[in-house]
Amino acid sequence: MEKKLPPGLYIVATPIGNLGDLSQRAAETLRNAERILVEDTRVTAKLLAHVGAKVPMVRYDDHSRDADRTRIVARLGEEAVALVSDAGTPLISDPGYKLVRAARAEGHDVRTVPGPCAAIAALTLAGLPTDRFLFLGFLPAKAKARSDAIAEIAPVLATLVIHESGQRLANTLAALSAALGPREAAVAREITKLHEECVTGTLGELAARYADAPPKGEIVIVVGPPLEAEAVSDDILDRMLDGALARLSPSRAAAEVAEQLNIPRKRAYARALERAR
Ligand code: SAM
Repeated sequence: MEKKLPPGLYIVATPIGNLGDLSQRAAETLRNAERILVEDTRVTAKLLAHVGAKVPMVRYDDHSRDADRTRIVARLGEEAVALVSDAGTPLISDPGYKLVRAARAEGHDVRTVPGPCAAIAALTLAGLPTDRFLFLGFLPAKAKARSDAIAEIAPVLATLVIHESGQRLANTLAALSAALGPREAAVAREITKLHEECVTGTLGELAARYADAPPKGEIVIVVGPPLEAEAVSDDILDRMLDGALARLSPSRAAAEVAEQLNIPRKRAYARALERAR
């Protein structure tokens, strides 16, 4: 016999592809909640059937009206209410943060039932440094806004984690490669599903690989931190400079590449003068 849940808000992570990843505690919480807040009732209905939960579902997202949120929060004193998203951990590129804030502000219990999260799963596959990482969610779809967003985080000394779709993958990789240079990266696709794969290479190599072949399925891009200045080989520097010199004067090309590679401008300029001869 499962125990009745104390009232409050329960943030419940659900599988990102493999139903076997639903934790026992998540299944128990879904069976014993009095109400489940969902993004899409059809998606969560399948999960509830899988765990034998017969609990009313209510659609919820961060665009829900304040009045709806207030009504939900008002019940948290007496009811155990679970929040799930279509897949993975709620609040991570998914609805929930306004609800958690509102629940806390009213003094209700907020508990989490942690579990699958595509961004963290991708980090575990990529083989890139994990001591510092910056989660960027989805980058903006429009080219200018996307390149502004990338320029903003270019100097950050951390691994980057980005959600992406197959259709947009090549453009995003090309924009990342142009702004960040030849950093190591990984494209993790269909994690925990039948066609799971993790393809690694420099940003340029990955951009070329996917340029004419948009992959199917769900994707996380992981990009390694800026290369240490001393780790930038002359070969990489020359390749970057040759690309820039096709468009720019030696001094401008050197400035651009020095910033992308995080190396002293003097080194880039000396090399640019030689390449431009
Ligand atoms: N909250 C979710 C989580 O914790 O994983 C993420 C939700 S976000 C709306 C959906 C994005 O997560 C997808 O577009 C994709 O970038 C990534 N994603 C979700 N499932 C994935 C999977 N099985 N493999 C790779 N990426 C996945």
